[in-house]
Amino acid sequence: MRKQSLKLLFMLLIATITILACSSNSDDSDGGTGTTITLHEAFSDFDVDETDIYLDGSTVVIETTGNPNHTTPYWGSGHALYVAPTVATNLTPSLIPGYDGSATLRVPSSPTLAGSTTATSLGAIGISISGAAIFNDQEGNGDLSSAVVSLDYSGGHIGPAEYHYHLEPKAWSDDDENLIGIISDGFFIYGRKCNSTSTYPTDLDTSGGHTSTTQHTMTAEYHYHVINNLYTTTGRYLLFAGPYTGTPNAIN
Ligand SMILES: [Zn+2]
Ligand SMILES: [Zn+2]
Repeated sequence: MRKQSLKLLFMLLIATITILACSSNSDDSDGGTGTTITLHEAFSDFDVDETDIYLDGSTVVIETTGNPNHTTPYWGSGHALYVAPTVATNLTPSLIPGYDGSATLRVPSSPTLAGSTTATSLGAIGISISGAAIFNDQEGNGDLSSAVVSLDYSGGHIGPAEYHYHLEPKAWSDDDENLIGIISDGFFIYGRKCNSTSTYPTDLDTSGGHTSTTQHTMTAEYHYHVINNLYTTTGRYLLFAGPYTGTPNAIN
C-alpha cells in the first residue's frame, strides 16, 4: 500500500515535469526559433520616389517607375533634370518623358547561388537605386561599339527601350563602393571597390561576384561588383555583363 502511494507520487512528478517541459518547448517555438523575414538593409539606398519595395511573404517585390532620379540629356531641354551632353557625342532621338519604363521585379529575400551560370540577354537585367534599368554589354545583336557614342556621362541612354545603363553610373558611383542596384537573380551589385577591404576586390569570379561583408551586412554574402577593367577604348567601365550566378527572374 505504501509502496503504491510512492509509485503514484513518482508518476505525478514525472507528469508534472513533462507538462512543464512541453510548455517551455512551445514558448521556444513561439519566440526563438521562428525566423522573421525583414527587408535587406541595402534596399534603404533605393530612391523612394522612383521605387516601391516591399515583402510579399519571403519574396521581395521591387516596383520602379523606370526613370532615373538624376540629370541626363535624355530628359530633354526644358525639363528640370535636363543637362547638356558632356560625354555623349550622338544622342539617340528619344527622350525619357516619351517612355513608360515602369517595371516590377520579384526576387527571393535570401537568394542563393544556382550552381551553374546563366547568360544575360537583351532588355532589363536589373534595377538600379536611381530607379532606371540595368542592361548588359550588348546593344541590338552586337556589342556596345556603335552605341557608345550615345551613352551619357552616367553610362545611360535610350536604345529602342527605356532609359538604361550599360556602364558605371557616374551619377552616383565613380570608382567607389556605393550600391548600384539589384540584379534580377536577387544579388546586389556594388561599385568597383568593396567595403570589406575599401579597395578593388581581387577574388571576383567571371561574373564580377564574390562573398564578403558589405556596408549593408556584417554577415558575408554573395554580391557583384562593377569590374575594374576598362571597356574597350571608351575609358569607362561596364556595369554588368553576367553571366548570372543565381537564377534570373523576369523584369516586366
Ligand atoms: Zn542600350
Ligand atoms: Zn564585395
